[in-house]
Amino acid sequence: MSKVPSITLNNGVRMPQLGYGVWQVPDDEATAAVANALEAGYRSIDTAAVYQNEEGTGKAIAASGIAREDLFITTKLWNSASETWTRDSVLREFDASLTRLGLDYVDLYLIHWPRAVREDYLTVLRAFGEIAESGRARAVGVSNFQPAHLNRVLAETPVVPAVNQVELHPYLQQAELRAYHAGHGIATEAWSPLGQGKELLGDPVVVRIAEKHGRTPAQVVLRWHLQLGNVVIPKSVTPARIRENFDVFGFELDGEDMAAFSALDNGTRLGPHPDSFDEF
Ligand code: NAD
Repeated sequence: MSKVPSITLNNGVRMPQLGYGVWQVPDDEATAAVANALEAGYRSIDTAAVYQNEEGTGKAIAASGIAREDLFITTKLWNSASETWTRDSVLREFDASLTRLGLDYVDLYLIHWPRAVREDYLTVLRAFGEIAESGRARAVGVSNFQPAHLNRVLAETPVVPAVNQVELHPYLQQAELRAYHAGHGIATEAWSPLGQGKELLGDPVVVRIAEKHGRTPAQVVLRWHLQLGNVVIPKSVTPARIRENFDVFGFELDGEDMAAFSALDNGTRLGPHPDSFDEF
């Protein structure tokens, strides 16, 4: 039995609350990194077409000997069409991801960015509905969507995203989005949950809470996410840190710690703003 709690998505599928993200891990290093994570106990892996490591990730999955149904694999559709997405081009991209992963289904398929200026995310979501119907993605969802984008998805497609994966850490707590998600049955998944290991992990408030619990800054930040109900996917390629980031279930933050974390929100974004990001 895994010690990682699961959350139940809006279609009944269960998703581990802690997973392992592989952004910026080169394909030839991803196999070892994912193997280390699986060895440490992670069962949820977050990759994406644009990370160019779906093959390396898939090799680690195949070599692990872990039963497929015990794993939760997420990948994402990149903004990569030079033209506007069509149903067929979405289905083609999805097939290509499955092939690179060496899988016949994924657990979660996400659209990476709304790319709202192109007005094609509704087409993508409708195609995702077909993919979900076919059983080749157990759940479908979105990433980097703002409430305005979600409103259109809910009003104009039959799809209710299971997950919205967004930048979220103590410096960017996304209160409005989290409330929106809670009101619409959408799970909140935090990317860059450790603030990319930058100033956040040296913040005096975080360091003080870590010392109080005899834990590391990364561990108390992950604990804060878990206690808020977020799904988290921290990344590291260092085996000791991979294990450290998994060892977050033997302690709890108290009300005072959670309040101190709340006060850290200063709106710092490490990535682009979803309303304007149009890279492909
Ligand atoms: P993160 O917050 O997980 O930080 C990772 C960095 O923090 C590492 O590279 C390392 O430098 C440091 N670190 C990790 N563990 C540490 C520890 N225990 N102690 C000290 N430092 C530590 O940032 P991330 O990689 O940007 O985000 C995690 C995952 O989220 C990615 O791998 C990817 O899967 C996903 N992601 C998604 C999007 C999106 O647009 N959907 C964008 C960025 C990231």
